[in-house]
Amino acid sequence: MSKQTYDVVIVGGGPAGLAAAIYTSRRALKTLIISKDVGGQAALTDEIENYPGFESIGGLELAEKFKAQAIKFGAEFTLMEIVGLEKKGKEFLLKTVDKKEIKTKTVILAFGLTPRNLEVPGEQELTGRGVSYCATCDGPLYKDKIATVIGGGNSALDAAEFLSRIAKQVYLIHRRDEFRGEQILVDQVKAAKNVEIIYNANAAEVKGKDRVEALVYKTNDGEVKEIKTDGIFIEIGHIAKTGWLDGVVDLTEGRKEIAISRDCATSQPGVFAAGDISDITYKQVVISAGEGAKAALQAYRYLQGDKALVPDWKKK
Ligand code: NAP
Repeated sequence: MSKQTYDVVIVGGGPAGLAAAIYTSRRALKTLIISKDVGGQAALTDEIENYPGFESIGGLELAEKFKAQAIKFGAEFTLMEIVGLEKKGKEFLLKTVDKKEIKTKTVILAFGLTPRNLEVPGEQELTGRGVSYCATCDGPLYKDKIATVIGGGNSALDAAEFLSRIAKQVYLIHRRDEFRGEQILVDQVKAAKNVEIIYNANAAEVKGKDRVEALVYKTNDGEVKEIKTDGIFIEIGHIAKTGWLDGVVDLTEGRKEIAISRDCATSQPGVFAAGDISDITYKQVVISAGEGAKAALQAYRYLQGDKALVPDWKKK
């Protein structure tokens, strides 16, 4: 990490951030990627089958390919958390969690979303001791055990399918009677003989002394039931942790995602955003990569002094 001013600092090392870095570094912009991890949410996906050019590839493997490509073109990569962004004259100052400051002419925010908590008794206490938010990471610990997945979107379906190949028994608990995820995933989960789907039910309590032992759930008819389980995988969507950007860039009402123009400009000239943390509709690896490329090209044009790029998307 240099003390000099970067042309671009990219916050986030998932598909959006890494694709942005490939583009900025190929345009010879001094580029730094700062991220808490490599690959973000994509890296937690066991198998990606809808990224063009790869019939099937592991999420982490794909992210590592993106990263290697960005580094090959000259981008720097640092594992670190950013907790503040401030405008200082014509430049920006990014503050790291360990109180370092990084100077840059432009910023691309691409740090993705964070798993949503269930907020039931026992969840917090037993996180890491049977409660998990990542089936790919922790699933292999449940060989021949009982695993329970909560949620009804693609992440929950992916997790249930993955776990069905490891655990002896998988429960999938969804609060409605219809899944939100893709039909192909629904079909795969229904075809797995060791998956029992519990519809119209909400988790109410995680039970266990030192580790997860059981899950209490309540059906929509008001019945309270308990199942024995060794692990609980919470896959109920994601939230935007953008509190530190409040007042710096415009956030959307409700979800607090970063509001962007169709060219990835935020309300703050010189700051761009891409991928899941922005208010785009579809949160997909291929889309995030494309958005990252767009943000990079916009940052490049901004640095070239293209005044037409100052966002005017708020005006009608
Ligand atoms: P999601 O699509 O937002 O689904 C969240 C699920 O959790 C929904 O079924 C929702 O129920 C349920 N839920 C939310 N809050 C809950 C609560 N408090 N208690 C119980 N259930 C709750 O989130 P996701 O599955 O993490 O997916 C996020 C994005 O990533 C999506 O765009 C998805 O397509 C994408 N993704 C794609 C793939 C793939 O293509 N294979 C894999 C993973 C993720 P309701 O349905 O009742 O709202």
